[in-house]
Amino acid sequence: MTTPDIPTGDGRLLLLHAHPDDESIMTGGTIARYLAEGVDVRVLTFTLGEEGEVIGDEWAQLAADGGADQLGGYRILELTRALAALTPEGREPLRPRFLGGAGRWRDSGMAGSASASHPRALSMASVDLLVDTLVAEIVEFAPQVIVTYDDAGTYGHPDHMLVHETTVHAVPRAQELLGRELKVYESVTERSALLAGLAAAEDIPSGWRMPEPGELPGYPDDAITTEIDVVAQRGRKAAALAAHATQVTVAGSGAQYALSNNILQPIFDHEHFIRISPRREVGETPRETDLFDGLT
Ligand SMILES: [Zn+2]
Repeated sequence: MTTPDIPTGDGRLLLLHAHPDDESIMTGGTIARYLAEGVDVRVLTFTLGEEGEVIGDEWAQLAADGGADQLGGYRILELTRALAALTPEGREPLRPRFLGGAGRWRDSGMAGSASASHPRALSMASVDLLVDTLVAEIVEFAPQVIVTYDDAGTYGHPDHMLVHETTVHAVPRAQELLGRELKVYESVTERSALLAGLAAAEDIPSGWRMPEPGELPGYPDDAITTEIDVVAQRGRKAAALAAHATQVTVAGSGAQYALSNNILQPIFDHEHFIRISPRREVGETPRETDLFDGLT
């Protein structure tokens, strides 16, 4: 394991996510690893994930379409447990934090759904206001590194696309106010790692299915600039995923999970990123193995 180039205790990593569970699914290993290395990690989530599809009956009535519309509040609890699972023993658990404060903006739901026109929907917010709010967050926390999504919004979710758009508008202003450059990464899936993880899945839990070719998003190897080894954090990542029990089921093997669609997905032992600022040439080798590479 490499250590950050900047002294332990001075590193600050800000991860931007759309809904509770995205942080564990996409970056759970990275969060756990940098917490273990003494980096000050902050997970900033844009919405409470009110429109998530609930797995199982126990909490189903909390959903927006289940009647109570209390799922968002419950997902704060799941996120709190997930972040605690990613925190090393003996340390104060990492706490959730939400853009504009908890409940300010609401999950827009999948593209075209009625929830997208809810008055508090993230997709109804003015981008200028989202950017202003994020700039203030970045300047206050003063991270060296920011992790966001790709411009496709991972899998086309409008909230994920807005996280990307808000980030790319906020970063130049935050850099000006901080008087220095920020390293900015998109969290993505490497296609070859996805295929290898799927090939390694031996027992498919009952009721689950394998994804169709191309059904899950992925990037070619030469698009990936940065690869973080999270082998040592696999257990914590699986525990964090399990904490999001209304959204995620972890296989008994601990090596796969599924969302409410019951499509099997691997829990990766490396997490992949594309550095967009300062931009790194596609195919440049070797890949970075530390988000703090080159920082002093
Ligand atoms: Zn999401």
